[in-house]
Parts: sequence; C-alpha cells; structure tokens
Amino acid sequence: MEDIRVEKTASRGIVIAPVYCYREPDLTPETGAVSQEKVASETEKFENAKKSVVEDLAKLAEKNEVFAAHQEIAGDFMLGESVLTKIREEKKNVQQALDEAIKEIAAIFDAMEDSYMKERAADVRDVGKRFMAFLKGVRLPDFGSMEREAIVVARDLYPSDTVKMKAAYVKGILTEEGGITSHVSIMAKSMDIPTLVGVKGILEKVQDGMMVCMDAEKGTIVLEPDEAAMQDYAARKAAYEKERQELEKLRSQEPRTKTGKRIYLCANAGNVNDVRGAIQRGIDGVGLFRSEFLYMENTHFPTEEEQFLVYREAAKLVPQELTIRTLDIGGDKELPYFSFEKEENPFLGWRAIRICLEMKSMFKEQLRAILRASAFGKVRIMFPMIISLDELREAKVVLEGCKAELRAEGTVFDEEIEVGMMIETPASVLMAEEFAKEVDFFSIGTNDLTQYLLAVDRGNKKVASRYDFMNPAVLRAIRHVIDAGHRAGIKVGMCGEMAGNPQAVPVLLEMGLDEFSMSAGSIDYVRKLVLEN
Ligand code: PEP
Ligand code: MG
Repeated sequence: MEDIRVEKTASRGIVIAPVYCYREPDLTPETGAVSQEKVASETEKFENAKKSVVEDLAKLAEKNEVFAAHQEIAGDFMLGESVLTKIREEKKNVQQALDEAIKEIAAIFDAMEDSYMKERAADVRDVGKRFMAFLKGVRLPDFGSMEREAIVVARDLYPSDTVKMKAAYVKGILTEEGGITSHVSIMAKSMDIPTLVGVKGILEKVQDGMMVCMDAEKGTIVLEPDEAAMQDYAARKAAYEKERQELEKLRSQEPRTKTGKRIYLCANAGNVNDVRGAIQRGIDGVGLFRSEFLYMENTHFPTEEEQFLVYREAAKLVPQELTIRTLDIGGDKELPYFSFEKEENPFLGWRAIRICLEMKSMFKEQLRAILRASAFGKVRIMFPMIISLDELREAKVVLEGCKAELRAEGTVFDEEIEVGMMIETPASVLMAEEFAKEVDFFSIGTNDLTQYLLAVDRGNKKVASRYDFMNPAVLRAIRHVIDAGHRAGIKVGMCGEMAGNPQAVPVLLEMGLDEFSMSAGSIDYVRKLVLEN
C-alpha cells in the first residue's frame, strides 16, 4: 500500500477502481540522412504506412465521425507530397520526413484565425502519431480496449484522446502532467469525472488492474489499498454522494438568507465550457470570466473577431449577467507567444491593467470585442488591479473611445453596459469611497488582496500558513469595501476563492456581501449556507 498526496484538484469526487494505464510508446523520430539507394525503400515505407493508417481510420470512422476527418488528413495529397519531397530531395529518412511534414501542416492550422480551423492542428498531430507508430512498429494505446470501469492513469491526455474515452467506464483520471486549466482538467470538470493532475511519477508506480482509491476532494491517492483503506474510502464516497444529492435538491430554491436578503450566487469561468457546466447549477450569472485564459491557450494575441465569437457564445448562454474581466496577465500568468521582461517582483510588476494601458491597441481590441458581445446578453466589464482613480478613468476613456468607434461604424452594443472594478489592492480598499462613485459595481478579489495586504506571496509554499483570508486585517478591509459600496448604492461582490469557502461565507453574509462568485463546484454548498444563515 502506498499513500500519495496531491495538491492540484482538477475535478472533485471520490473513486475506488482498478487502474487503466494509458501509456504512450516513445514516438521520437529517427534522424539522419539516407543515401540515394535507400530513397525507394523509405518511400515505400511511407506508402505502406499510409495504406494501413487510412484503412484503420476508415474502420474507426464507421463508429465515430471524428475519425473520418482523420482519415482525410492521412490520405491528404499535401501531407504525402511534403513527406515524399523531404525523402527524395532532402534525403531525409521517412520518420524525420513525416515528423517535419506533420509539424509544418499543424503550424499552418495553428496560425489560422478561425477557432474551428485552429483546433484541426490537434487532429493533424494525432494522425502523425498513427503514422509514426506504424513506422516504428509499436502499438498506440487504445481506449477502445477499455472494457470495465477504471481510473485512467496517463502522462497527459489530449482532446482527441478524450473523445475516444468511453465516458461510462472512466470513473477517475490521474495524470502526471497538466495544470488545473489544461484540456484534461476542463474536460473532466465538464464530464464530472474526479481528476487529479500533476501527480508526478504515477505511471511508474501502477500497472493495469491495480486497485486505487482516490479522493479528489482532499487530494489523496492510495495504491493497492488494504481492507481498512478500502472501507475508509467507501465511507467517504458514500458520504460525498449523499451530500451531493441533498445539495442538488436545493438548486430550485432562491438563495435568500433567513433575514430575507436575496444573495446572488455566480460562477467563475475560464472559458465557455465552464460557463456551460455552471449553468446547470442554477447560477445567477458569471461573476468572473477570466478572459486571460483565451490569451494563454492561444498561439497569438486573439484578434477582436476571435474574442467576440467567444464572448458572444458565453453571453448567449448566460441568461443573467456575464462579467468579463479585461486581460489580467503578468504576475504568474504568462503568454507562450509574448516574452515578459524578467522582473524582481512580478506580482508587484507589469501586470493586468498596467499592461493594457500601455498596450492600448491590444486593450482596444478586447474592449471592442466585449462591447460587440454585449448586444447578445447582459455583459458587464470589469477592470483588474486598479490602484488609482487616474487608472480607472484612463481605462474608461479607452472604453468610451471604443464605444464611439462602434457607434460610428453602426455596430450595436449595450449603451447601458455596466462597468465595475476589482478590489484587490490595498490602495483600492482605502479609496473605495471615491471609486464607488465612478463604477457600477465592485468585486473583491481576495486571492490578490490577501497577498498584498498581508505581504504574503499567494504562491509561495514557505509562507502558505500565513496566507489567510480570515486574518482580521483582510476581514476589516472587506467590511470597509462593502460599506463604502453600499453607501454609494452599488452592488458589492466577491470573486476570490474566499467566496466559496464554507468558513468564510457566514462571515461575509453577516458583513452584507451581495454577490458570491466561485468555481461551479462550490455553488451548491454555498447555497445551502446562504439558506441556513
Ligand atoms: C483574485 O485576485 O481574487 C482574483 C479573483 O483574481 P485572480 O485569482 O485571477 O488573480
Ligand atoms: Mg487577482
């Protein structure tokens, strides 16, 4: 028996099941040139691979149309020509030729504006893997061979892997790589599959069929559990499921406190999928749409049109408010296609609104996209990291400029669009009175506010025990902001993790917080707390 602790919970729940290993063989291509005499045999190897891959995909396509697209890619003239040219003219061996051709074609799709076309790059890479496996004479793992309920253990999973999974059999997922915002995490959350990511070395420790208990609530895993551990996890699972059922029954109830105050329960979302998942939980809107994920998951700064399509989709999904926070990059959030200068203190450095006010054309593209989406739902705009009235006013001037442009172009948007700001810096707390007169709403970002008020880095393990949003200084700041907002007649919400914390919620209700925005998984429980307080 072995106990493992994991820090990142991607999707919650408790599972006891055998392991299904999803091991990828080494598909690193051989490198090196081939002589003129070998050109014919390398060409033949490619033709054989193509025939076999296309035939396999044709069979798979009968069951799932994703593979019809893969079959087309595999038989595509451009791919074939590219590989054969590299073999014949550049004298590359077939594996290297294939690897380069696949990378080049995937890069073309990656660079496309249209998000549907962009996603085809993953399909091209997938087809490349099939070819390479054939050329190397190895077998690719296949979810089709999964015949019973199991916890899938993998190094990482890609979108095309997940469509092949038989959802009914996948009871849990453990991956070595992947962050809580990686594709596998997003997919797992939307399918409600308990998932832990970043479990270092797990593939080496398990084999197919090994019994595993995982608690993706507490972040614990037990390999080959003994009888006592099995019983412990079975009890946890039963209690968790019973609690969930009870909580789900409350979804139809309006969240009102015992004193009759209507509380707004909203979701935090990083993308449209999160919005979709949250809606089923009876939310009052999206209190924080973290637009930076759209930038982080991209290969270039998303264009106005790309952003507009995403925001519009989200706006149409949410019947109530959709609060889009403008780009909050910097600090610990980097972009793969933009190099940030190294900073001594990134969290005190060039981030969020500071970047946007300097990179105005990028900022304007985002604001125009948000404004255009506001014609399709109740969209609100929220500025992060504000520390002065000057900053807020400057951001609003840029926004007004975008509105004027759209009016001149005859593009419709919500003329009454609400503009709010995050309260996540000590300066914004102390100036809350003044800020409240110039915005339509506040949303308290306790994740940053706690680190800035207490001078405790939110990501530093060494000071983690000091990072406490229940510290009286943080609570006093929150009370001050709520009071200042209410005196000016604006709604005060919170979108930091504290809003979904069971210990904090009663305290925040008592202070008069109007809106609680949190990850979707916490909403049911917070509703219960609201009804009880
Ligand atoms: C916060 O700081 O509380 C917040 C919600 O923003 P983020 O966690 O994205 O910095
Ligand atoms: Mg923040």
